[in-house]
Amino acid sequence: MRKQVKDGATIHIWDDRWLLDTDYGRVKAREGMEVKVYWVNELIKDGEWDMEVITRIFDEETRRKVLRIPLSVMPMKDRIYWVISSTGVYTVKSGYKLAKIRKRKEEQRRTRAEPGCSVSCATLSWNSVWHMNIKPKLKHFIWRCLNGILPVNALLMDRCSKGNFLCKCCGENPETIEHLFFFCNNAQEIWKAAPLD
Ligand SMILES: [Zn+2]
Repeated sequence: MRKQVKDGATIHIWDDRWLLDTDYGRVKAREGMEVKVYWVNELIKDGEWDMEVITRIFDEETRRKVLRIPLSVMPMKDRIYWVISSTGVYTVKSGYKLAKIRKRKEEQRRTRAEPGCSVSCATLSWNSVWHMNIKPKLKHFIWRCLNGILPVNALLMDRCSKGNFLCKCCGENPETIEHLFFFCNNAQEIWKAAPLD
C-alpha cells in the first residue's frame, strides 16, 4: 500500500510509504541531518517541489525519486492505493493446469490459514465466481486467489526457496493470500475505506 501525493497534507515524510519506485516506499534523511519537517506538504511550495528543502534533507538518490513524483495542478487530497507487485502480475494459464495443481494448493492453504480466519476461501466455488457481474480478468484473478495460486511471497518461498516470504506492505507477517487481502493492517485500512455495506 502506498500513499499517492496530492496535497501532501496527510502523508508523513518519514513514516509513510510514498515513493513510487522503491520496494518499501519510505525515505531516509541525509546522514546526520537534523530534521525539522514532518509532512510532505512541507516539501511543496506553490504547487511545486521545494528544491531548497528537498536538497537539504535528502541525498541525491532520494531527491531524484521525490522529484519524479508528479504533483497535481488542482488542489486534491492524498490517496491510498494498492501496489501491484511484480509477483502479482496477471497471466492466463490453462484451466487444465489449474485443475491439476488445485489439490496441492488446497493442502497448502489449509496449513497456512492465519488464526482468526474462520471462513475458508474454498467455500466460494467457481460457480459463484462465474456468475459475478465482473470482468473475466477479475474472475480469473479471484479464481487464482481461491485456488491459492497467486504468487505471493510465502508461496514463492515454498516453491523456490527464493526471495523474502514477508509481506511487502507491512513487512511483519508472511505474505500469504489471506494476509495480503484480509489480515494485513494495510489491507484492513483499504477495506475500511472501501464503499461496501
Ligand atoms: Zn502485511
